[in-house]
Amino acid sequence: MKRKIAILGATGSIGTQTLDVIAQHPDCFEVYALTARHQVDLLIRQARTFLPEVVVIANEQKYLQLKEALKDLPIKVWAGEDAICQVAQLAPVDIVLTAMVGYSGLKPTIAAIEAGKIIALANKETLVVAGDLITRLALENKAPVLPVDSEHSAIFQCLTGENSPIEKIILTASGGPFRKYRKEDLLHVTKNDALKHPNWSMGAKITIDSSSMMNKGFEMIEACWLFDVSPEQVQVLVHPQSIIHSMVQFRDSSVKAQLGLPDMRLPIQYALSYPDRLESSFPRLSFSDFNSLTFEAPDMEKFPHLSLAYQAMKQGGNMPCILNAANEIVVDAFLKDRINFLQMSRVIEQTMQQAEFIAQADYEIYVQTDQEARAIAQEIIGIKIFDK
Ligand code: MG
Repeated sequence: MKRKIAILGATGSIGTQTLDVIAQHPDCFEVYALTARHQVDLLIRQARTFLPEVVVIANEQKYLQLKEALKDLPIKVWAGEDAICQVAQLAPVDIVLTAMVGYSGLKPTIAAIEAGKIIALANKETLVVAGDLITRLALENKAPVLPVDSEHSAIFQCLTGENSPIEKIILTASGGPFRKYRKEDLLHVTKNDALKHPNWSMGAKITIDSSSMMNKGFEMIEACWLFDVSPEQVQVLVHPQSIIHSMVQFRDSSVKAQLGLPDMRLPIQYALSYPDRLESSFPRLSFSDFNSLTFEAPDMEKFPHLSLAYQAMKQGGNMPCILNAANEIVVDAFLKDRINFLQMSRVIEQTMQQAEFIAQADYEIYVQTDQEARAIAQEIIGIKIFDK
């Protein structure tokens, strides 16, 4: 039986690599649905190659172009945000791979969980924003949430066969392009500097998040929800070679690690084929090419994003949602040259101080919090009070 896959966010970096994996295993997987936000040309090419049952373009203005381009094929063409949620619930779909960017992944992920699908989770913001809600719904609906993020896939692989509680997770980080910069140098870095990631090739949002280390902060939060640990049990460790993808320490002092070359296709494939491992033609790790693996503590003073993420997770409630909303606004503002690199964390910090803290949140509260925090962050940027 082939597993039928719906890819939400098919035209992004994770989406296209997922299609690579599926193309290498046509006897195991079948593309059932593809969705994209704007990139209609690529979506058309993907649909013509993989012949899914359904394609969805979130941007309704591109619907006619998509419909016209696929009119010779028996593919259903839908448009709009609600159609993405509908696709995630279609009866024949076995696995929903969520690779949308940021907060936009929350609603379709909830829809897929409510339909009891296997979730291959690449959209970490979903767990950052509403981790308690997502984990509770996943349990209630018996929907397994399998990590696609390389670090969490590593932790998940280390936990296979283990029944004992985790003592500590050691979450590795490349350190990003500014690892060796002094704090004062960060004042002058540009978006082009930030978009040069040393090891991983990814979309713009996550690359900026990696340069500020917010990505690692989000991954710490993601790890807390996926593996039921506290923020105090997650240690971020800078490992510039990105060969050890993360580690788990157990109560007898044993440490397990998962290693490999930095290639997202491996964690994608593992999530799709779990609990089996499939053959792959991915390049193999040669230890003689990496004869020194190095480790250092992250510089929280230079990268305040990371300590803001710890602070948000320790506070709990809707605070991680506020953190995420403010971060989406500052990343967008940085990419549009409205603020500089160091101002990003100051805007987030002030948004966390100003937005209303709610200890017990439900879906409606998360939606409200997201809107409110975005408005506050926009206002702070607009009147430039972050340099006071
Ligand atoms: Mg990662």
